[in-house]
Amino acid sequence: MWIDTHCHLDAPEFGAGHALALAARERARSSGVGLCVIPAVQRSNWDSVRHLSHRLGDAYALGIHPLCVPQAQDEDLQALDAALSAHRDDPRLVAVGEIGLDFFVPALCTPAMRERQQHLYREQLRLARAHGLPVIVHVRRSADLVLKHLRELPTGSGIAHAFNGSEQQAQAFLNLGFKLGFGGAVTFEPARQLRRLASSLPLDSLVLETDAPDIQPQWLYVTAAQREAGQAQGVNTPAELPRIAAVVADLRQLPLEELAQATQANAFAALHRLAGLGRDAQGAA
Ligand SMILES: [Zn+2]
Repeated sequence: MWIDTHCHLDAPEFGAGHALALAARERARSSGVGLCVIPAVQRSNWDSVRHLSHRLGDAYALGIHPLCVPQAQDEDLQALDAALSAHRDDPRLVAVGEIGLDFFVPALCTPAMRERQQHLYREQLRLARAHGLPVIVHVRRSADLVLKHLRELPTGSGIAHAFNGSEQQAQAFLNLGFKLGFGGAVTFEPARQLRRLASSLPLDSLVLETDAPDIQPQWLYVTAAQREAGQAQGVNTPAELPRIAAVVADLRQLPLEELAQATQANAFAALHRLAGLGRDAQGAA
């Protein structure tokens, strides 16, 4: 069984009423993706992420994404605390996420926004600790600060999603009990450092993800020139996970089956509540 540890199936790209998400999820299931983790991005989508994950038999996380920090209010933190309490017995709620820091988007890099991002990130780490949940972190040009706050407010485990840092940064996340999320980016041959890490890191450090509908794998990627020539952008869905996995297995010279078993165990270790859902998903397969 494959686990897509990060996909935004509630995104508008998947159509009104999640019509395309349901079809994509069905396709993913028939290609062996037994579980998806759907992270929320802001207060207004917490309910929809929760409902969708129940409808699909998947898992979800609640949180405020760094890209949503400009719209976030302080009272959203109290609302998050209340939501985590209200759904504490929901086995499908597996983490606080997606949270973190993004210093790539210019509008988020002003001194005030850097401060604000770190404030919301830290407060959400506190909530994760108070509720005994791991975290799913977004790291873009921000690994050292994401790590610094995690060291001060450790959550015991979690996932550094779409990991794209150095070997030292990888090791620092692993030392904090985290697993590293690998997805579409690793399918591009020029991504030398990332591909080297995907092949050389210990097998127990990797989890797989599609980040659907974002981070297209190489075979769905359409260049600006191709777009201008009328070629449509391919839609990334969890159904791409087995093919991404095949790239990682190839880089590691590892049988697919072995990678599936290891990344499943790693996902359970990172998000402890997934293990219970995993048993059910396998029973249903
Ligand atoms: Zn995400």
